[in-house]
Amino acid sequence: MSLCKSLLFIILILAAGCQSSSSTLDRIPTLSPTPQPLAINRPTRTPRPIQAAPTLTATFVPTHTPPHFSVPTQPPVADLPTVPPTAVAGTPIGTPVPTLPPAAETFVIGQSAQGRDILAWRIGTGSKVLLLVGGVHTGFESNTVLLLNEMIRYFESAPADVLPGLSLVLIPVLNPDGLMLGRVSAGRFNGNGVDLNRNWGCEWSENAYWRDQLVNPGSRPFSEPESRALAEWIRNTRPAAAIFYHSAAAGVFAGDCEGQGVSTVFAAVLGEATGYAYGQPFTAYPVTGTASSWIDELGIPSVDLELSGTRESEFARNRLGVIAAQCWLIDPVQTPSIPICSA
Ligand SMILES: [Zn+2]
Repeated sequence: MSLCKSLLFIILILAAGCQSSSSTLDRIPTLSPTPQPLAINRPTRTPRPIQAAPTLTATFVPTHTPPHFSVPTQPPVADLPTVPPTAVAGTPIGTPVPTLPPAAETFVIGQSAQGRDILAWRIGTGSKVLLLVGGVHTGFESNTVLLLNEMIRYFESAPADVLPGLSLVLIPVLNPDGLMLGRVSAGRFNGNGVDLNRNWGCEWSENAYWRDQLVNPGSRPFSEPESRALAEWIRNTRPAAAIFYHSAAAGVFAGDCEGQGVSTVFAAVLGEATGYAYGQPFTAYPVTGTASSWIDELGIPSVDLELSGTRESEFARNRLGVIAAQCWLIDPVQTPSIPICSA
């Protein structure tokens, strides 16, 4: 009997255990055959207002009178006032573009970080292109924009100074975002705060300098739409030579990527014609990722031409430089038998 009792007791224990396991299984939630989506409270995204494509502004149109952005007096750099952009920004976006003379072909090479068009003028019909770029740095270098505006005006009115076989492509403002800030330090940079002459693909460095300051070179070479657009245009067009205007180191500096320069003679030609110093590299501070060096690496002579001041366009001497550059492009060895080249 005691054996039977023991067996009965064991059976009862096992039965209780099975029931316990069964209860546990019952608590496992069954999966719904079609899972319901999780109800996540996503914030309703308010669509960002799409910025209307800016209409070209009269700021970029060549004129004999300095545009509004040319503030006549420049305070010492250490004493820069904070100027509201509207006080010096020039013609507001939305101003219609005046009609251009029929001799000028204009086109847009791309847009800035803030969506402004980057305009180019082509004057002449020759297949050899001399590229002239101003307004890489605006702000206190905005006199390079004045210079390019004067060049456009001049060469449109004096087409004989665009030599046979050549054409000029002039980009007065590579950095239209900076230009709209007026003559302030921030106007040096584009709408992303990037220094556009530290953003190119030759010797780019994340440690980029302007004088003794670190500046933003972009997150990588060609991170910025302005440098990408111009680089693409250069790759497609293959200009014969390029001049980038800056201020105010008073010199012509040959583009040179890792010592393979093709620009030294071109810098000398410009230096002789304009009277700016040439023949020495820029050594005031380390410079990386510049446009002229990247273009030099393509085998295209390219220079940074630094005006001697930050106010005047220095047009007269630079007109001579552009003519000398054309003569050199026609014949880099001998002076071409064109009156203006031997003048
Ligand atoms: Zn500059």
